[in-house]
Amino acid sequence: MASNVERQLVVFDFDWSMADQDTDRWIFEVLAPDIRRKMKTLKDDIQWTDLIAQSLEELHGRGATREQIEHTLKIMPFHPAMVRGVTKLKEASNPTTTFFCLSNANSVFISTILESKGLQNLFEEIVTNPAHFEPSGLLKLRRRVDPAGPQHTCQVGCSPNMCKGEELEAFLKRHQPGFDRIIYVGDGTNDFCPVLRLRSQDMVLCRRFRGLERRIAKEGEVEGLKCQVKYWAGAWEVEEIFGNL
Ligand SMILES: [Mg+2]
Ligand SMILES: [Zn+2]
Repeated sequence: MASNVERQLVVFDFDWSMADQDTDRWIFEVLAPDIRRKMKTLKDDIQWTDLIAQSLEELHGRGATREQIEHTLKIMPFHPAMVRGVTKLKEASNPTTTFFCLSNANSVFISTILESKGLQNLFEEIVTNPAHFEPSGLLKLRRRVDPAGPQHTCQVGCSPNMCKGEELEAFLKRHQPGFDRIIYVGDGTNDFCPVLRLRSQDMVLCRRFRGLERRIAKEGEVEGLKCQVKYWAGAWEVEEIFGNL
């Protein structure tokens, strides 16, 4: 491993990468499985963030409270080794590590979970869909990119609302000078675009058996993937990789 790394950036997807579950689905699996079933039926017809916003309204209409939603988030699977791994890496000073969260979940889901793990100060920035609780207890969610305004122009198959590749480049522009090394932790098909933009000294920590692994296998070579690829299945392996950096 290169020893001239002074500043490194760790980019985290949230669902199934930092956390061991998918927040959007978990909430409904726990609180209203029939809404979860309905989401499966509607997901090809309604944009995903809109579908979650609509499902949250339905949940609210049935009397689900803010406390129930927060509790459900706090008990979502989250590996202690992930907490240890990122905490240790953040404390280390040579190299220094900046953490950036890039997720298509939402700000309330992510901040509630991070706080429950004592990780509320981990990330320099969290780029995700905006959400807030209204006084009534409704969790109001909006797309990050207003559907009425200009959309992203990505060509590598990013879903509407978020191109994580463009978001990563925008973050790097906001945080000059650049980083000697970028480590991207992800699992999903929408993590492929930012990973394509990494350089040869960068690294993707790709979770096994999910969409990102399939896209790297199928499209990595044709699309000119340049970064190193390390695979992991359990968070204890991410902790191990962080420890050996
Ligand atoms: Mg994910
Ligand atoms: Zn993209």
